[in-house]
Amino acid sequence: MREVIAYVKWEIEGARLLNFVNKNMVLNTIVYTMEVYSHQGVNVLAIFDKSIGKVDCQCGFWKKNGYACRHMFYVMKAEHLKEIPDRLVLKRATTAQWLFILGAQRLLMFQMAISGLTSLFQRLEGEYRGYA
Ligand SMILES: [Zn+2]
Repeated sequence: MREVIAYVKWEIEGARLLNFVNKNMVLNTIVYTMEVYSHQGVNVLAIFDKSIGKVDCQCGFWKKNGYACRHMFYVMKAEHLKEIPDRLVLKRATTAQWLFILGAQRLLMFQMAISGLTSLFQRLEGEYRGYA
């Protein structure tokens, strides 16, 4: 549970470490090319389909882990999306799903939920240590 929150947070923060390389419009789809900071020349492509609000990424992280990768968070931010696209709200019954629903679909609310949960865990850990 804590791990899932930490990993999602890690991806949101990881989006800040991406450098913009290129942005192309192909029909209704905006193709973002970005570069990982400190990995010059290693490009990752992520797309945003304006007509259906779909965000996807070539790295395959989402399919494997069930939550958005840093590249998708980057595109969501660049496109000023205020809500996490429906497709990215997990269908699988995991703690991450609970987190997405509870944290609401709004990106800001989601970040608030994560930071709130993080401080709650820190407090609980602190109290636990107090008893140990
Ligand atoms: Zn990705």
